[in-house]
Amino acid sequence: MTSSAPGRVFNFSAGPAALPVEVLETARDEMLDYRGTGMSVMEMSHRSAAFMAIAEQAEADFRELLSVPDEYAVLFLQGGATLQFSMVPLNLLGDRNRADYVNTGAWSTKAIKEARRFCEVNVAASSESSRFTEIPDPASWSLSSDAAYLHLCTNETIGGVQFHEFPEVPVPLVADMSSDILSRPVDVSRFALIYAGAQKNIGPAGLTVVVVRRDLLGRARPGTPSMLDYAVHAEADSMSNTPPTYAWYLAGLVFRWLKAQGGVGGMQALNQRKAAKLYDALERSNFYTSPVSRHDRSLMNVPFTLPDPALDKPFLSGAEERGLTNLKGHRSVGGMRASLYNAVPEAAVDALVDYMQSFEHEHG
Ligand code: PMP
Repeated sequence: MTSSAPGRVFNFSAGPAALPVEVLETARDEMLDYRGTGMSVMEMSHRSAAFMAIAEQAEADFRELLSVPDEYAVLFLQGGATLQFSMVPLNLLGDRNRADYVNTGAWSTKAIKEARRFCEVNVAASSESSRFTEIPDPASWSLSSDAAYLHLCTNETIGGVQFHEFPEVPVPLVADMSSDILSRPVDVSRFALIYAGAQKNIGPAGLTVVVVRRDLLGRARPGTPSMLDYAVHAEADSMSNTPPTYAWYLAGLVFRWLKAQGGVGGMQALNQRKAAKLYDALERSNFYTSPVSRHDRSLMNVPFTLPDPALDKPFLSGAEERGLTNLKGHRSVGGMRASLYNAVPEAAVDALVDYMQSFEHEHG
């Protein structure tokens, strides 16, 4: 797994998040002179042969990792996952005026709020009444008959709830996979569109990956800016304007690294092991608590609380001293959150669990 390097901490950040050391080392080695071109990838024309090769290889590796069928376009865009909250309705509503959304937390809520600018949103299900600590049972969802699509967030980065199965729905399924893409195998053909901001499991911020079924392209509503039209980007291989070249290159290095680690199957096994270690530690303890219902716990983002918020500060400063960083929970939830993305090594979880036990021993 990820080798460590001198001075490196165990980084549990929710995003931008830890990158594999090997990827950073390659980027360092290729920084001044990318493979004999005499320049950094940052300094290259996006139309140069060297960059085109980087871009094509990254797309090919991504397609291989997720077994993306040919009838899907893979786009490398800007604007973050947040811009997808608008691009999805702008491109997929067609002549309809309604979309179904499942509300499982803070990111679904934001997607819903943005979609309301473009159409009527039917919130088909919501776990707000349980403070977003579970995924509503699909059997209880109230789908509308005339929705253009159904949107869900496969992993709520803040609340720490994750879909472990995907529902069968009669309309195109759209998924925000920002915080769990490439963490496990996914049957892409179950989805009409998948999007993800890069800065968790893909690479640095500034890049957004969109996987969209090609038959859905070309239906953007009149007046849609061309930069927000998937068809324009698909037609131009994501180069209708200057793409985020360096982020694309680094994503390509991450994809290559993932393939060397056994692909998304290998990642899933590792991620299950990592998460199980932390959740088991939470379960064994009467000191720490996970707010999320057992079946829906995220393998990527693990929120937990201490028995008294007054202990949060000493917990965090003790963690920092051991090189365990970015464990502070999101301000809306409080407590702690450990993000265990692909590049977070198992040794990081071992060190965290070890620290949690000694802190409990001292303060419990
Ligand atoms: N969706 C999810 C699930 C996220 O975790 C985030 C960012 N943390 C976003 C959307 C927004 O992404 P961005 O900041 O790239 O716009």
